[in-house]
Amino acid sequence: MSVSQTDPIIAIATAPGRGGIGVIRASGPDLRAWADALCGQALRSRHAHYLPFRNREGEVMDEGLALFFPGPHSYTGEDVLELQGHGGPAVLRRVLDDCLARGADIGLRLAQPGEFTQRAFLNERLDLAQAEAVADLIEASSAAAARSAMASLSGAFSAEIDGLSERIVQLRMLVEATLDFPEEEIDFLEKYQAADRLDTVTAALDGVLRTARQGMVLREGLHVVLAGQPNVGKSSLLNALAGEDVAIVTPIAGTTRDRVIQQIHVDGIPLHIVDTAGLRHTEDTVEQIGVERSWSEIARAQVIVHLQDARHPDDPLDADIVRRLPAGTPMLRVLNKVDLLNESAQAQREHSGTDRLDTSERIRISARTGAGLDELRARLLSIAGWTPGTESPWLARERHVLALEAARQHLLLAREHAAHSDQVLDLFAEELRLAHESLCEITGQFTSDDLLGEIFSRFCIGK
Ligand code: GDP
Repeated sequence: MSVSQTDPIIAIATAPGRGGIGVIRASGPDLRAWADALCGQALRSRHAHYLPFRNREGEVMDEGLALFFPGPHSYTGEDVLELQGHGGPAVLRRVLDDCLARGADIGLRLAQPGEFTQRAFLNERLDLAQAEAVADLIEASSAAAARSAMASLSGAFSAEIDGLSERIVQLRMLVEATLDFPEEEIDFLEKYQAADRLDTVTAALDGVLRTARQGMVLREGLHVVLAGQPNVGKSSLLNALAGEDVAIVTPIAGTTRDRVIQQIHVDGIPLHIVDTAGLRHTEDTVEQIGVERSWSEIARAQVIVHLQDARHPDDPLDADIVRRLPAGTPMLRVLNKVDLLNESAQAQREHSGTDRLDTSERIRISARTGAGLDELRARLLSIAGWTPGTESPWLARERHVLALEAARQHLLLAREHAAHSDQVLDLFAEELRLAHESLCEITGQFTSDDLLGEIFSRFCIGK
């Protein structure tokens, strides 16, 4: 952010729209005199004052509570004033404008998105992972995600990272000390069992990484694309999974001409499910565009659900589609409309060996009756790397997972240096330093301004 980080700032903190209560929040290094003048009385710290909110002309704009939190014991670490009035956009705007006008001489300005939380970070009220958890808590789309975001906010994730950093720092201190006394260098690694210590730290980091990946899935969810020929039941499956009608279902092939995205939750994990236009050759230009979009959705998918009609499991067109699917993306093969198979036909098919493709790997469902949907949901979660019934103790972001992976890589390189007889202690030391630095990126002790700008600009205004 290019703006000054010490200007007094103000914003409406509650969500836009109408509500019982609307909160305006201001923060700055020295707001006491302004706040007292605004409220027409000396505000006691951390006390709720019920009072009229008067404008400069003395007209009462609203009435409500004023709370003054002197720094450093406030959300931002600075002086904070909160005005809690009625939650209507016009009345809040009026009070805000009046606050701004009366704060012009102290340089009061509107806060940018995330600026309150950024100050909390800069004033060391929160580390970076905790600051991110504030946004994650607000954005959490399930109870499970909210619970884990709160754990991150209270520092559970940061504590893990700090624990790993601490162990790396101890090792670094030993190495750096030895580098100052080259005659000891030769037996350093042995003397301090450096390799063993390194293995222990790496194992601990692996554990954190596993949990972080779970936390990331819980936060970000999984992009699932439903692919298959027209009329195999993709829209019906989307509806069945979503439990409401989101896509148009008709018996005429080619009705889903555009993609439909629906977010559903399975075990608290957000699954972003994309229903695509049926993959077939078509002369219809509109439908063609739909088919092209389907292929570009498929290219971006994290999981592809390839849906087929259970009555034609060996349709050559399906074999074509499967061949064209990206090789690296996990795929679930699903046979739909099992309700239309009469039992004898099914038994005959299974025993006569007419299934040339191995259908045992396929999940059998009926979007109409709901049969097999639980198994499909469970398979989707397992592909996401989610172990059912577990809870992610804290929430994590892709950024955290990447930093942990980088740290891990540096620890492995350090381990290689330690394994060689011509131990190169300065290279060993350097890898430890880099591993430590990667971990510090997570909590923000070592972070570029660009990254900070990027993180906080995604917050909502007033947070
Ligand atoms: P899409 O083109 O792949 O999206 O297919 P739709 O979801 O539009 O379904 C095409 C037709 O198949 C509709 O008439 C659905 O009612 C029917 N259908 C879908 N799933 C099932 C199923 O599991 N059983 C039966 N009997 N019909 C289904």
